[in-house]
Amino acid sequence: MRCRNRLVSLCVAGVFTAGAGAFQVPAQGLTPQALARAWDAERVSPATPPLITHDEVVGRLREVAARRPDMFSLEQIGESVEGRSIHHLRAGSGQTAVLLWSQMHGDEPTATAALFDVLHYLETHRDDADVRRILSQLSLHFVPMLNPDGAERFQRRNAQGIDINRDALRLQTPEGRALKGLRDRINPTVGFNLHNQSWGTAIGNPPRPASISLLSVAYDEKRSENPGRVLTKKLCAVIRDALEPFASGQIGRYDDEFEVRAFGDNLTLWGTPVVLIETGPWPSEEVDPPLIRLNFVAILSALDALATGRVEKADPRRYEELPMNESGLLYILLKNGTVINGAGIQPFVADIGIAGNRRVRVNDGRREVQVSTNVSDIGDLRTSGALRVIDASGLTIVPDEDYEMGASIDLPDWKTKARAPIVIGQPPRIAVLRPTGDGRYRVELLLR
Ligand SMILES: [Zn+2]
Repeated sequence: MRCRNRLVSLCVAGVFTAGAGAFQVPAQGLTPQALARAWDAERVSPATPPLITHDEVVGRLREVAARRPDMFSLEQIGESVEGRSIHHLRAGSGQTAVLLWSQMHGDEPTATAALFDVLHYLETHRDDADVRRILSQLSLHFVPMLNPDGAERFQRRNAQGIDINRDALRLQTPEGRALKGLRDRINPTVGFNLHNQSWGTAIGNPPRPASISLLSVAYDEKRSENPGRVLTKKLCAVIRDALEPFASGQIGRYDDEFEVRAFGDNLTLWGTPVVLIETGPWPSEEVDPPLIRLNFVAILSALDALATGRVEKADPRRYEELPMNESGLLYILLKNGTVINGAGIQPFVADIGIAGNRRVRVNDGRREVQVSTNVSDIGDLRTSGALRVIDASGLTIVPDEDYEMGASIDLPDWKTKARAPIVIGQPPRIAVLRPTGDGRYRVELLLR
């Protein structure tokens, strides 16, 4: 059976009853807690997704396919502009085809890592009833790292400088053509478009990090509903409920405005309704593992809900009531400090907001992940949220004049201009000083 868009609900409904009585209660399936425990114990994904290379992706896919040729088949579906291969790994034999692709933006790698954990889970748990059901009800089509040239540079666009996700109509990118060709060939019932969003994405009031944002992708300006969109709203509801125990208050809704050039919107129009999963910031030193884990739980919970039929019972309002994505989340918020900003201006009380985003830079021939930061705001920032909040009450914030941590110094004279004052839009060079009671100050924190 080939599902056309308007028949999606019938098609998926067929999954629920295959091999069983029409009124059988859907199987309970995988629980998010069990999936999270499995991930903690069994994960194989690389610890730092931004450093995943195309070679590593291809190597891992070949290993998976070679180890279990009875479960997986691997094919190349295209080449990037610079000749890097793009692969499609297939698993399962069910009637409901599901297409999952990651990293069509090269600097958005979290889900690529998570897909390797999903593949490993399917492989190691292949004899469990839940995985057997997924593989018998669904045909899974994975395309990890659709944009390997962008990944090589850790940039959004491909080597032509084109945003592949705005090329669904013109199809000038070989990567976009590979995705379109695969979609047209397998005509999936549903697609998962896996991305990362800015670390400046917030939700709620007070603002919290939008660690995962979900979108049931629209297929027209009016954001109409059809059976495909109802299905993706229900899948988003399933994912939200699966992730609530791990990221409560950090799950948001991505703007569902129709984008005429985007793949998700056009796939939905072509008959493959799409769920967009955007991975955002996480408020801890180690950001990657919790986010890979959320992706893993989200993807397997959604597949399980499709395979068991549980998705039909999901309430779309659980998705629709999610708070909308907003911008402006800070990387660091220094609160209530006395600021001597180094411009010859009298000390004043203010909060200082620092925005941050990740990048990969080559250092001594080795790629490494850095966070690039900028001073983004000074003043009363009580309405802002941040990944890290530092209470600077009773402390003095001054331009860093190459101080050493812990050094004992005199407070800089506010009338003396600093070599590099604290300026909005500039990388921070900031020292936070604590009075030590003897008229001197200790360098408590340096932000460079
Ligand atoms: Zn993206």
